[in-house]
Amino acid sequence: MSSAPKEEPVKPGNFLRSIIERDLAEGKLATRHFAGTPGDAAHHAAGPIDTAKIRTRFPPEPNGYLHIGHAKSIWLNFSLAAEYGGVCHLRFDDTNPEKEEQEYVDGILDAVRWLGYDWQAHGTSHLYYASHYFDFMYRAAEALVEAGHAYVDEQSADEMRANRGDFNTPGTPSPFRDRAPAENLARLREMRDGKHADGAMVLRAKIDMASPNINLRDPALYRIKRATHHNTGDTWCIYPMYTYAHPLEDALEGITHSICTLEFEDQRAFYDWVLERLADLGLLAQPLPKQYEFARLNLTYIVTSKRKLRQMVEEGIVDGWDDPRLPTLAGLRRRGYTPESLRLLAERSGVSKAGGWIDYSSLDIALREDLDAKAPRAMAVLDPLKLVLSNWNEVIGKEQTLPCTAPLLPGRDDSAQRQFTLGPEVWIEREDFMEEPLKGYHRLSPPRFDGKGARIDGSIVRLKYGYVIQCTGLKKNFDGTVAEVQAKLIPDTRSGTPGANAVKTKGVLTWVAVHDALPAEVRLYDRLFTEAQPDAAGRDFKSCLNPDSKKIVSGWLEPTVAAAEAGHSFQFERHGYFVADRIDHAPGRPVFNRITPLKETWAK
Ligand code: ATP
Ligand code: MG
Repeated sequence: MSSAPKEEPVKPGNFLRSIIERDLAEGKLATRHFAGTPGDAAHHAAGPIDTAKIRTRFPPEPNGYLHIGHAKSIWLNFSLAAEYGGVCHLRFDDTNPEKEEQEYVDGILDAVRWLGYDWQAHGTSHLYYASHYFDFMYRAAEALVEAGHAYVDEQSADEMRANRGDFNTPGTPSPFRDRAPAENLARLREMRDGKHADGAMVLRAKIDMASPNINLRDPALYRIKRATHHNTGDTWCIYPMYTYAHPLEDALEGITHSICTLEFEDQRAFYDWVLERLADLGLLAQPLPKQYEFARLNLTYIVTSKRKLRQMVEEGIVDGWDDPRLPTLAGLRRRGYTPESLRLLAERSGVSKAGGWIDYSSLDIALREDLDAKAPRAMAVLDPLKLVLSNWNEVIGKEQTLPCTAPLLPGRDDSAQRQFTLGPEVWIEREDFMEEPLKGYHRLSPPRFDGKGARIDGSIVRLKYGYVIQCTGLKKNFDGTVAEVQAKLIPDTRSGTPGANAVKTKGVLTWVAVHDALPAEVRLYDRLFTEAQPDAAGRDFKSCLNPDSKKIVSGWLEPTVAAAEAGHSFQFERHGYFVADRIDHAPGRPVFNRITPLKETWAK
């Protein structure tokens, strides 16, 4: 088990903070203008000095559901902005017409809100769509063509690939590379006007076919693709490439620090190249955004690739995008993980250039830390066995029940109390009884004879918050399984009364009285995979699915849980943290999900 420090750690190293502090100290960001909405250089120049000291953004592509890795990026961008008096934009990077859907847009908005972040600042909504910038992106493309920085290439895709070269071989310039700007412009307009077939030609930046950075060997800026876009419909039949679109989006929005994951490191040179050209041409405002990369969050025992998540949903390996076993934010939320626990994980995982794996147990540790102080306690029996208290009528009284009280939040002096009752029959956990107890077993066992014929008394235990009892016997089913356990109350041992501790016990049992137990469906979730890195080294993640990742049991809950609303979490004493399922739980029909046991039980 990997352990996280108990006390709140000093803010872990974060090189981005140092960069921001340096930039703020130099004062070069303080003179930026921001017109209140995204726009080009002229638009911003006409606006006031930006009141936001920095601008960051979280730019998801709406082609799937967000996962725990995105939570880190969301936390990082929003919290840096908040910390330094800035603003964080939520931007849908929806420039690719093929895979994007409104369902995902809604899911992403929901997830960001649930995590506790807001794109409203200074009375303005900073929710943006990259597809709103298509006009500008096209205008910028024409400007690059006119300035001789871009050309239309009519090579086939195969030729282009072959002529790009590789790490050891410089690329070969396209025969179309030296066409005159006027001819390129005419061609680009034909592309836009639908005069050419999909894939017949592309617009490319004219940079350096021999660059050691292959991303600078004349990358594509625009492609022809007849596809209906979820926002702009059939207005366009050409679409900008991600690597061209992204820096422009940042610049139009006045982003100061464009934070992304390490796989974009090699794109940074092109990011700067294109923005500098467009600023020189007077189209984009200075100072330009700067890109910074950090290592992505990798958590063991999950997969986060959108393709693989989709495959699990589509093949029915899980029950939808919000299956409580998935690392999607919708799934984690349904499972019962809290926004605070995800924030804690993100914070503790640090922000650096060095990638690494974080053990899944870190998330459970964060969850327990968050819920320990918040989640009301209750008793629950998840594998019930009936216990009959044979002398109830003599000790307590016929048709009487015994009021019991217990703290809602133990360990707090001001904790409210919960109230329930003990009766002549209670449910206990099946594992709390052993007919032939093993050495060191301190729970219930019946009177019996040892190997030498000597009589051993039934064991004595306390029913938590209730009474001390002694086991007197058991009843069996025809198949030999235990049907019922019998015990007697030991008088004057009621919890909380003077002398209650006169009889010493080694075991304390949790229980729920039969007469007022609340029946509930309880879903016991566990990890989806048996391997720490399910899709590492080309392994098919389906080969290491955990067959026991979901078990559904019928349990009995303490009656105090009856008022639980969907989404409320509890600590079921000794079992762990549970949440009333967001979707299926209803007051008359309780359904609970296990978030995590109280202790790490996963065998390594
Ligand atoms: P996938 O590769 O799983 O399809 P993606 O990274 O392409 O996801 P985007 O919608 O482009 O998904 O991601 C939005 C932002 O979230 C990007 O800035 C990306 O760098 C960041 N991000 C994605 N995964 C992680 C991760 N595991 N850790 C930190 N940031 C991440
Ligand atoms: Mg991406």
